[in-house]
Amino acid sequence: MADMDQNKLIEKIARLKQERRAVILAHNYELAEVQDIADFTGDSLELSIRAAETEAGVIVFCGVTFMAETAKILSPSKTVLLPVLAAGCPMADMANAAELRDLKARHPGAEVVTYVNSTAEVKAESDICVTSANAEKIVSRIPVGKEILFVPDRNLGQNIINRTGRRMILWPGFCPTHRRIENAELERRKREFPNAVVLAHPECNPEIAPLVDEFLSTGGICAYARKSLAKEFIIVTEIGILHRLQKENPGKVFIPASVQAVCPFMKLIRLEDVLRSLENMEYKVELPRELMDRARIPIRRMLEMSK
Ligand code: SF4
Repeated sequence: MADMDQNKLIEKIARLKQERRAVILAHNYELAEVQDIADFTGDSLELSIRAAETEAGVIVFCGVTFMAETAKILSPSKTVLLPVLAAGCPMADMANAAELRDLKARHPGAEVVTYVNSTAEVKAESDICVTSANAEKIVSRIPVGKEILFVPDRNLGQNIINRTGRRMILWPGFCPTHRRIENAELERRKREFPNAVVLAHPECNPEIAPLVDEFLSTGGICAYARKSLAKEFIIVTEIGILHRLQKENPGKVFIPASVQAVCPFMKLIRLEDVLRSLENMEYKVELPRELMDRARIPIRRMLEMSK
């Protein structure tokens, strides 16, 4: 019965999506059933590129607020819908424009490098955005000797410092979900699965580095798992990604480093919400034009430098 209800929901979503000329984008951490009905599933960078390129007039963004805002900033003439308003990101909310302006005033001439997991007003104060997929490459290209302020994720920032040797001033933000993954738990998993390749997201605590084989974005983890000849992988990030990994690689085994690594905000959007969003055309992402114009500059610079 539950399956029948779900099938009806999926049919209704598909019909309405066509009528509205909509595209559904979902982050790799979303609920499995939402990932399954999406036209495209990916990480923040992949979703930004899709949002910028799509011909559809309506984007239903199954992710969190900053992602839907980024889609709107890149496609201001399109209607961008976030199905659940409460789907925010605590890390993004750890930085605000006024405090960033204060920090900039204390470091005149510094390059402000901002993780896309940030509010539109913080992006508008930034020189360039990065995602976990391109942060290392972009930071490496900033001229040596230029001071860098990295906002808002201190863990991603420290992981980049460790890999590039570049000095950066780190904003003290962090992801509460990735913080739940502890070394002791990962060590236990590695003892249980000694042949497994360990793939971690760079939002994790940098102290985990000696236990990790590769730090990758969620899109990077999916690509690595597809190409690798290994059969077992310990996945050190939010566990929503396991659905896609298992679906794309049925012959391989994916073990979560921690079953505690669940982002409650990424689990708020259900199929019912996607349907309601399309029916009522809610909730529309609206941002002041002047703010979008300023926030678009660092995002566009990032997309240019990621090519
Ligand atoms: S996983 Fe962390 S960074 Fe991503 S939306 Fe959740 S709280 Fe924010």
